[in-house]
Amino acid sequence: MSHHPSKPTALTIHIGISACLLGEEVRYNGGHSNSKLCSNEFSQYFEYRRFCPEVAAGFSIPRPTMRLIGDPNKPQLRFSNNPDEDLTDQLISGFEHQLENCDDLDGYILMKNSPSCGMERIKIYQENGHPHMQRGRGLFAQALMSKYPLLPVEEDGRLNDAPLRENFVMRVYAHANFRHEVMEQPSYHNLLQFHSSYKYMLMAHSQRDYRELGQLLAVSNKLPLDELIPRYKACFMQAISEPAKRGNHCNTMQHILGYLKKTVSNDERRGVQNVISQYHREEVNLATPMALLNHYIQRTGSDYIRAQRYFEPYPAALGLRNQV
Ligand code: SF4
Repeated sequence: MSHHPSKPTALTIHIGISACLLGEEVRYNGGHSNSKLCSNEFSQYFEYRRFCPEVAAGFSIPRPTMRLIGDPNKPQLRFSNNPDEDLTDQLISGFEHQLENCDDLDGYILMKNSPSCGMERIKIYQENGHPHMQRGRGLFAQALMSKYPLLPVEEDGRLNDAPLRENFVMRVYAHANFRHEVMEQPSYHNLLQFHSSYKYMLMAHSQRDYRELGQLLAVSNKLPLDELIPRYKACFMQAISEPAKRGNHCNTMQHILGYLKKTVSNDERRGVQNVISQYHREEVNLATPMALLNHYIQRTGSDYIRAQRYFEPYPAALGLRNQV
């Protein structure tokens, strides 16, 4: 089958981001929380939409610190030094407009530990001043993730973890590719092509989800497109939501190596197999066996296998597979 997906580098990737992470001095203390990763490395690939929900809601810079208080499932935002005034509605009315306009985003990077932007483990206080055991999410982060449950979202601190960072960027590009190749030109054909280009990426994440998606597409002619596409997208984004396990990568690479039986000598294939085993033993990173495998695939593989996103799920210059 001939298959020529657009190169991921050709895409414009729009990413929402907490403004303080790009060095904007919007924090309660008048400072910023500049993230080098976001401001430098990622900025060559992402077009950012920066947003500070607290400033958008009219709070001053500087301002007193705020915290979440009350029912952990429906906390209120209040100033730490004046817990009588409920600021929740003010914050919500400040971000409502932004929230309506996130449809074209392919990812969101949030600032950690903020009662507005924090993605997880945010303290929620009881009226007596002690925190609840149960932690929560910042109010803007909660609203964002409820409205766009399939949008790749990560937090500044978690992005320091190499597997989480690699997985986030991979999901961002998958989301963008899906938008570009399926949502903007919806057809059964385009959905099947998208699925087939992600075959090995899906296998590396979850054999079970890969089979389930295949079954959904096998009966796809019975479903209207406007029902099928959202169902596929939900299942697909869920399937890739966690970093792929080392063992699964090894199985997937071995499977691909099987394609080279006729065109690559036994010795050379044994060489690739050795490097896959080294990766399994954590002696080399993922970039090493992938580069070797990709070298043979690009030289002798079919169009179908060469077009697999698994080999370049995002611009290789990001270097993320050197770190996992
Ligand atoms: S964490 Fe969010 S609310 Fe706080 S300064 Fe940064 S962008 Fe603004």
